[in-house]
Amino acid sequence: MTQIAEPQVGATPATERVNHWINGRKVAGASGRSGTVYNPATGEIARQVDFASAEEVDTAVAAAKAAFPAWRATSLSKRTDILFRIRNLVEQHREEVAAHLTREHGKVRTDALGEVQRGIENLEFATGIPTLLKGGFSEQVSTGIDVYQIRQPLGVVAGITPFNFPAMVPMWMFANAIACGNTFVLKPSEKDPSASVYLGELLAEAGVPDGVFNVVHGDKVAVDRILEHPDIAAVSFVGSTPIARYIYTTGTANGKRVQALGGAKNHMVVLPDADIEMAADAAVSAAYGSAGERCMAISVVVAVGDVADPLVAAIEQRLPKIKVGPGTEEGVEMGPLITREHRDRVAGFLDSGVEQGATLRTDGRQHVLYSKEDGGFFLGVSLLDNVTPEMECYRNEVFGPVLEVVRVPTYADAARVIDDNPYANGTAIFTRDGGAARQFQFDVQVGMVGINVPIPVPVAYYSFGGWKASLFGDLHMYGPEGIQFYTRAKIVTARWPDPATSKVDLGFPQTR
Ligand code: NAD
Repeated sequence: MTQIAEPQVGATPATERVNHWINGRKVAGASGRSGTVYNPATGEIARQVDFASAEEVDTAVAAAKAAFPAWRATSLSKRTDILFRIRNLVEQHREEVAAHLTREHGKVRTDALGEVQRGIENLEFATGIPTLLKGGFSEQVSTGIDVYQIRQPLGVVAGITPFNFPAMVPMWMFANAIACGNTFVLKPSEKDPSASVYLGELLAEAGVPDGVFNVVHGDKVAVDRILEHPDIAAVSFVGSTPIARYIYTTGTANGKRVQALGGAKNHMVVLPDADIEMAADAAVSAAYGSAGERCMAISVVVAVGDVADPLVAAIEQRLPKIKVGPGTEEGVEMGPLITREHRDRVAGFLDSGVEQGATLRTDGRQHVLYSKEDGGFFLGVSLLDNVTPEMECYRNEVFGPVLEVVRVPTYADAARVIDDNPYANGTAIFTRDGGAARQFQFDVQVGMVGINVPIPVPVAYYSFGGWKASLFGDLHMYGPEGIQFYTRAKIVTARWPDPATSKVDLGFPQTR
């Protein structure tokens, strides 16, 4: 996952290219380096994406820097107006955005439309920017003196995004960033880069001035230049934990504000009193939706006590009905994985799980599309039972359509399993006992918690983020913490005295 495909020098001239988006227009890459974008449903090369050199990143940052003074001075009403227009254009073109996602990521149309919808909700939140940027005012803190706080944008800010949400995660970032008056440079995943350029076109159509939103494609070269660029004030990152840690340490060492969201291993605890059918529906939906390539996917069911046998049976019974195939096909519920290499890595965890003592109840490699020569990057759904925390399949983020079942005797054991895991993005509990659910919510060391809700992604007016190795930095993404991240406070102390009362006073300023 964290390995970027070896960039190819030069590309097949006949292949369609994905260009950068700089200063309000498409800009062809000049570095001579590019990456391959696949159609994961066919396994074919779909296009080549330009990889930026450090100089090309500099060009984008220069455009963003030049656009900043005017954009930051643009009135809140005007910015709001533009944000409404962006929201409406994305809504109007949601099928086209979703089609980019299906073509390059592989997710099915309905799932892709869901992703676009969650992105739109971030744009809707950002339209409230006049209210969100309201400061505070304290009158008469001392005789004739008032104090007030204003929030100001940081300048040029950058976003580096993962392959699994090529439209929504950029919207998590740029909606609030530009609403606050910053200008933005996006480095999207090189695996599915087209949606971000399409969004750039929509933003331009909505009236976003040239240079306010830019996209540079690429690999470590582009990312490293972003991390060291003196004119970039802050970096938002979403991706895997090793890279998130790297982004956070390097970015902060270079004096930037950084929020870096990492990987996940999300546990769903099922207590013995839970409704088995409802828990099974939730586990299956949350484990296999988007082929398990969601940072909030449920990857582990922690079955407490005697719920395990009937729950596993209910999950197993649902699996043969899941329709796997190309995301463009009507009725298909689960598409391919992002690359062949990733698909094979995921499948490898099935073997290691069995070798280490797990029970493979459903093997996704038996799906007809898995073994199709020269086909897409498909793997059917898999269910690994009797998994224990020492196993490779448990210790790693699998990020594929594999659900693991850990059986424990008590609630306390379930809580310990979650606490001992280094990741802490999301978790859920299924129970009919309000007291147990409340205790879980109180105790659990995880950033986002679901109570009978398997994927508790916060709505746009709360903020998103995990704890522990799932987030490096102090502020979560989007929502109120997003506004805080993209602004800094300035405190003004003001007095309008009568000059006749003025005198020299070297004493400490008094408030009483
Ligand atoms: P990734 O870490 O491989 O890549 C993310 C971004 O970092 C991409 O833009 C990529 O080009 C760049 N990158 C990759 N390797 C790099 C390197 N060595 N140096 C500099 N930059 C590098 O992640 P991915 O495979 O694209 O996405 C899947 C991962 O993202 C999973 O771990 C998933 O859990 C995580 N994710 C987390 C959240 C969250 O909110 N916590 C949300 C979505 C995805």
